[in-house]
Parts: sequence; C-alpha cells; structure tokens
Amino acid sequence: MIMIDGLVQRIDKKLQRFDPLWQARRGIGGLRSRYYDKTGVAKYREWRGIRDTLYDYGQWMKNLGSMTAMVASAPIPCLKGFWEYRWMGSYLGTFMFIDRLFEGYRGYELRIAHHNMHAIVQSLTKKIALVLSNDKRLGGGPLSDQMIPYDEVLPPLFLTGFKDLIPIPLQTLPEFIICDIDQQLEPYYIDVAESFGLPADVCSRCAAETGVAIDDAFPIIGKAFITTNMPCNASEATSMFQRRRVGLPDMPVTLAMIHNEPGAHPYSTQMLKDTIAFIEKEYGVTYDWDELFKHAKEMNEQNAIELEKWEFMKTPYCALVGIAESLYRLYSWASVNGQDSYFTKTDRKVLKLITKAYKEKYEPFSGKTRHRAFLWGPSAVYYTDFPTWVENCWGINIVLNMDSTMGYNQINTTDSEEAIKDLALLSEKATMRHHAVGGWENVNAVWEWAKRFNCDMVIFNDNVSCKGMNGVHAMMEEQARDLGFHFVFLEHDLEDCRTVSRRDMRKRISDYMSIVLNEQPLDPTLVDFDDSEAY
Ligand code: SF4
Repeated sequence: MIMIDGLVQRIDKKLQRFDPLWQARRGIGGLRSRYYDKTGVAKYREWRGIRDTLYDYGQWMKNLGSMTAMVASAPIPCLKGFWEYRWMGSYLGTFMFIDRLFEGYRGYELRIAHHNMHAIVQSLTKKIALVLSNDKRLGGGPLSDQMIPYDEVLPPLFLTGFKDLIPIPLQTLPEFIICDIDQQLEPYYIDVAESFGLPADVCSRCAAETGVAIDDAFPIIGKAFITTNMPCNASEATSMFQRRRVGLPDMPVTLAMIHNEPGAHPYSTQMLKDTIAFIEKEYGVTYDWDELFKHAKEMNEQNAIELEKWEFMKTPYCALVGIAESLYRLYSWASVNGQDSYFTKTDRKVLKLITKAYKEKYEPFSGKTRHRAFLWGPSAVYYTDFPTWVENCWGINIVLNMDSTMGYNQINTTDSEEAIKDLALLSEKATMRHHAVGGWENVNAVWEWAKRFNCDMVIFNDNVSCKGMNGVHAMMEEQARDLGFHFVFLEHDLEDCRTVSRRDMRKRISDYMSIVLNEQPLDPTLVDFDDSEAY
C-alpha cells in the first residue's frame, strides 16, 4: 500500500503541470483553458491527479451505464421521444453538464458530489424511460392510466398513499430539470408562449411551462391532472394554460399563500383531503394510509439526515458543498420525496463520508475558501454551475442554497389525522413559496439562516421578472449594511439566458470582489469568458 501511495505521488508530481488548479496558482492556465471558446465543450478531461481522475472517470462510466440502461429498457419509446420532443435532445448535454458542475472538485468533495449526482441520474433515466413508454402521444403503454400527472412544485409524498398509482411531476422532464442542463432550450418555449400572445414580462419559468404546453410537448399520461397555485400568481396562470391544453379533469391544489398564519394549516390540510377524494373518484381507487406511512418513514429519515448534515455545514470542514448539495436536495425533496429508497441509502453513505472528512479536519477545495455565502432567491437555472464558478474563481463557498431549506418537518407515521396536517405543513414549505413569496418574513429569514451557518456573505438571486422578489431590493441592501454582511444582488432571468447572460452574472460578482473587496481571483482564466454557445 505504501509502495502504491509512493508511486501515485511520484506520477502525480510528474503530471501536475496538467492540473488546472496547479496552473492557475502559477498564472500559466486554469480551469477555463480546457475549453473551446464560447462553448461548454472541453478539449480534454480535467486532470485531477491519478486517483481523482480515475474516480471521476469511473463515475462518468457509471452515469453512462444508467443512460444505456434507459435506452435498452425502452428503445422504441426513447427513439420516438427524441423525434417528438425538442427537450429530449437537451439531455445529451448531461455529461458536459456534470463535468462542469464538479470542476475543481477533489478528494472527499468529489466523491460526495458523485454519490449525489448518480442518485439523480439513475432516478431521472428510469423516469424518462417509464414516462415515454406510457406516453399516449407516442402510443401509450400498460401503465398510462396508472400515472398521476401532478405539478412539479407539489411535494408528492401525500400521493404515495395510492399504492397502485405512479405520481409523475409533469413539468420536470420537459422543463424543470432540463433547464438546468441546457441554457439554450427554454428560450424556444418562452418564444412559443410569447408568439401566442403571452406578455413578455412574466416569470420565464412560468412562460416556459406555458410554451411547453402550447407546443404540445408535455407527455400525455394518466386520467386526471393535479395542478396548483404554488408558488405564486405566475404559477397559477401557467396552471390555467396547462389545464386547457392537457385537457384532463384537473384538481387545483390551492395551498395557503401566507402559510405562517394560524388559519392557513386547517385550510391546506382540507385541500389535501379534497385532492385525495378527487383522485379516489377519478381513478376508482382507495387511499392506503399504511402505504403513506411507509414512504413517510423514508422521508423522515432523509429529513433527519439533512439536519445532521447542516451541523457539519456550519463548520469549515464540511465536504458536501455547493451545487452537489443544492441540486441533490432540490431533486430529492421535490421529485423523490420519500418514493425511492436509493436516496435514503445515498444519504446514509454521504453522511458517513462527511463525518469521516470532518474527523480528519478536511477542508474542501484545499482550504482555499475565503468567504462563506448563503444563496437566496430563485436561482438562475441556466447557470447551475454558478456555485462551482464562484468557488473556483473567487473562493466563495455557497454553504447552503435557499431551496435546501424546504419543509424539513417530520410526518406522523401512526395517526392519519396528524399525518395529513404534517403533510400540509411540508407541502406549504415547498420551493419558492417558502422563500420568495408567502410573506415578508420568509424573504427576511435569510439573515437568520446566514448567521446560523456562519456565513459572512449573502448572494441574493434577483430574478428580474419574479414578482415575489421585486420591491425588496432596497430593504435588503439596507439590512445587509446594518447587519454587516457582504451582500450582492445578482440579477438574472431564471430560465432565459438572453436577458441576463451567465457572463453578465459573473461580471456582477467579479466587480464586487475586485472593486468593493479589492480581492484577486484564484483562477484568472475564470474571471471573464464567453460561454454563450454552451449547453
Ligand atoms: S421565480 Fe418568482 S415568479 Fe417565478 S415561479 Fe418562482 S416565485 Fe413565481
């Protein structure tokens, strides 16, 4: 073992000149040097030393295995899907996307990131094969009528009480997850919506969903559709467009907007009960509380582990960082929500690795972090690797992201009346409702969160067309000054990279870091570059 270690060290030393982090330290290259100009296409894989490069490549192969399994399990539906849906082609960018997300990752942070990412890839690929195999637009399948299409921002845990039905978040495949992978896709759907007469000043997420509906690019599954008013008025509008286009009987799950009010929970609880009754009627099935309790136990364990992870995140020795944390939590909470035990197992494994790294006092990114930031506000989903860039370029560790603070309450697993109340609480605290809308105290909570996680910086995503965020600008600036946080308002247009580009976003941070804080970049090749043609 000692001999192998020695050999690895000797080879790593010989080849270190190919390591972009080593090059950046010496001013002779860096992480952006690998790319063709304007694109996200790298000329060669990142050299991270023998062990990390082999590990990273092994994980690349593992993800390729999941994709191959997807196509092998449903070759004809997948082919038809590529032919029928523009968004299917965007999934081909997944490998580039993952490589970009974990640039500069080494050691523990690399291993943890890949555990989390593979959980997403294996789940998503299975879901794509399942949906396409049963999509009535492509000819349908044996499970078409057993699926319940529901709005992606509703946590599906409460639907798991229908033992023989399969909840499918309808917008996730054509819009909600794919906009993270391909910045060029959603502008097409936004244009479709605007050509139809939709005003151009609405939230681009909701515009894109509307465009997908008008373009007839939603798979057609199930016997009834569960829509929602979550998280905001723009979402209500897109739900209305979608229900007309999808053309199934629908149930709008309208949860309380100001959900911290005492009257909100009985109302939201009743809404979930009504939805259960609606599905029983439309599908001719009976709700099974024991089945719900089984899935609630999975979710409870995941939420309990999440709180344990947070304790590590408060320290400099947490190897679960940046996008590896936030993307995983967003997907596992919003799309899985107790339905897949693979995620519970991943959480256990990751917690073990985090604990081990902590005991070794391991600092991610070779201890180069200079600032700890809390990322708040709906993130620009065309710039998913922003947390990676901001760490590699300026040494800012995104400790936690707004979405990670979604409902973390435990669900009662013995009493149905208590369970449904807990489910209402969990559902109200879903993505964006709990943060960007739903009352001033939700937005204002960022200072408390940032303090709890020992952050010295707050980066506030300012979606230029989010009605929830408009108007809080000056108040947040004032509070940041009073409380002593470094504070950046980061403009973006959520799913439309044409309004504010990734490059514009980087400039905003770089200007703050160089002009206000007078700091030097860790990797000068990352400060300003053109990636306008990248996935
Ligand atoms: S970004 Fe704002 S406007 Fe868009 S869906 Fe979220 S809360 Fe609504």
